[in-house]
Amino acid sequence: ESVINRIAAGEVIQRPVSAIKELVENSLDAHSTSINVVVKDGGLKLIQVSDDGHGIRFEDLEILCERHTTSKLSKFEDLQSIQSMGFRGEALASMTYVGHVTVTTITDGQLHGFRVSYRDGVMENEPKPCAAVKGTQIMIENLFYNMTARRKTLQNSGDDYAKILDLLSRFAIHHINDDPSSSVFNMKGFISNSNYVAKKITMVLFINDRLVECSALKRAIEIVYAATLPRAAKPFVYMSIALPPDHVDVNIHPTKREVSLLNQEVIIQKIQSKVEQQLTDSNE
Ligand code: ADP
Ligand code: MG
Repeated sequence: ESVINRIAAGEVIQRPVSAIKELVENSLDAHSTSINVVVKDGGLKLIQVSDDGHGIRFEDLEILCERHTTSKLSKFEDLQSIQSMGFRGEALASMTYVGHVTVTTITDGQLHGFRVSYRDGVMENEPKPCAAVKGTQIMIENLFYNMTARRKTLQNSGDDYAKILDLLSRFAIHHINDDPSSSVFNMKGFISNSNYVAKKITMVLFINDRLVECSALKRAIEIVYAATLPRAAKPFVYMSIALPPDHVDVNIHPTKREVSLLNQEVIIQKIQSKVEQQLTDSNE
């Protein structure tokens, strides 16, 4: 059974950067205003994410890393209107099957925090009282210690550090001036119009504050660029879109990246004409 769990976990947590994305999203869900990330050896030796969010209650620690344990869904209908980024309760559990996870946390009004380590979905020891500042720190040591081939590949590729920086700068762009407005279809962003040449188009896309990818939208924007600014090859596009939660299908893949939208064609057309208008204006 633990081999099956490990394989499943390896699908959810494919590389250090996937673990970091999950941890940062958990910190954002916990209403943190500051998140610190420490990485050693491209994340293989150590990943440590510390936040100043609302913390984890003592009574939740025991089941924290069991699969499908989430504090973010209490009834089935909630699936229709997912507001927070996590909802599967799968990320933390998965990490404990492929690494050594230690959680230190304190909730508001407590005199001290608790620290506890997990292995293969369960607590290794009773939570120990400890000193703690506001929020939660999650540490993963020796990621993929039990997946030799994966560890070797990642060790030799050495590009995870760059992937992690890239991910964190995407979150940072988006959270610089956060204004949580919520009209029906609301969009903001910026797009490049220079002859900045990179290897491929960079599209940073947030839908309802979730960092996602939407290949149909990306292709649609590439078409607009090709038609209006053919020499602005390989542009940079940042877009943040707010939609009613039940218009976004985030349930396609465990890593939760690629999304599809209700009325996708209509929305894409609207965005296309907006981008086209912006590019034409800036070109005059
Ligand atoms: P999900 O985010 O899908 O609920 P996770 O496995 O990522 O599942 O996390 C499990 C639970 O652990 C969350 O629902 C949340 O209650 C708690 N949790 C994880 N990280 C944090 C954090 N940084 N601050 C507060 N609670 C957290
Ligand atoms: Mg989560």
